[in-house]
Amino acid sequence: MNIKSKKIALIGTGMVGMSFAYAALNQNVCDELVLIDIDKLRSIGEAMDLNHGLAFSNTSMKIYAGDYSDCKDADIAVICAGVNQKQGESRLELLSRNAEVFRQVVSSVVSSGFSGIFLVATNPVDIMTRITYELSGFDSSKVLGTGTTLDTARLRFLLGEYFSLDPRNVHAYVIGEHGDSEFTPWTQALLATKPVKKVLEDNAQKFSKEDLDTISVQVKNAAQEIIKAKRATYYGIGMAITRIVRAILFNERSVLTVSARLQGEYGKQDVFLGNPCIIGRGGIDRTIELSLSCEELSSLHNSYEILQRSFCEIKL
Ligand code: NAD
Repeated sequence: MNIKSKKIALIGTGMVGMSFAYAALNQNVCDELVLIDIDKLRSIGEAMDLNHGLAFSNTSMKIYAGDYSDCKDADIAVICAGVNQKQGESRLELLSRNAEVFRQVVSSVVSSGFSGIFLVATNPVDIMTRITYELSGFDSSKVLGTGTTLDTARLRFLLGEYFSLDPRNVHAYVIGEHGDSEFTPWTQALLATKPVKKVLEDNAQKFSKEDLDTISVQVKNAAQEIIKAKRATYYGIGMAITRIVRAILFNERSVLTVSARLQGEYGKQDVFLGNPCIIGRGGIDRTIELSLSCEELSSLHNSYEILQRSFCEIKL
């Protein structure tokens, strides 16, 4: 009997990487998890810590600190490695230093013989995903970023609270740049099968577009709010990565707003940004082009321009 085991290589075992690893262990999403970090001692300690919880889990996952050679037969390389912003450092300087980290990380993963799927979480995630695509030479279906997956989860949670509805029955997306120019195309938002626009019309005394706009702002500012309170965000993104990994490894063909390369959708090319995509064993199975209003399309083009400009600023 030949049962292929599911293997993940995690590069970057900081707060985000380990929140993913912890969620992956508790959700039993893979059979083997190798932890890689420039700080080897840290990944050794993290592997020990997780292994000590195995006896309380429902999995016999193999977890260990490893090296890039261990990526060879991995199904997914999850990249959460990155450097933090120094005091007085500009956004572009930070981006250049993270591009340098990726030059080393991506070439090491590729040199191992890895032929799986890259999943990037490091910020600015849309740019780092495009850098991974450029450096790896992989097909764009095999290079994706977390994009606006977490923002979409935040939106669905807040809309669920507002409309008193299970967030799983809220079908609304945050798209575009994972950052200030992201937005919600409300024309595409549904509560179960009913358009949100119609819900507002039918319940004008209870719900309003102004409240929805406030929710959009809350979604956009969520990361800053959390950072103000506890210095970093990691559990939500850890669970978002786990969700994407599950969709890939179990060939779910789930719709998730990952960062994916535009190939003519919305009349644009090359830029990676958050957009609903069908995710399965091969990575990005299909990119769904939404029927945006003129205003929504111009918001998407704004995200595109911002991301294109940022990418052109860095030298690869
Ligand atoms: P962290 O500082 O806790 O961890 C970063 C890790 O990367 C460290 O363990 C560090 O040793 C490692 N690293 C640095 N350079 C490396 C290299 N060359 N090779 C291998 N490992 C290297 O940071 P964190 O809180 O875990 O955040 C990681 C990234 O995730 C950041 O870029 C952060 O902005 C991003 N993030 C993304 C989202 C999202 O929605 N996509 C949400 C939260 C955080």
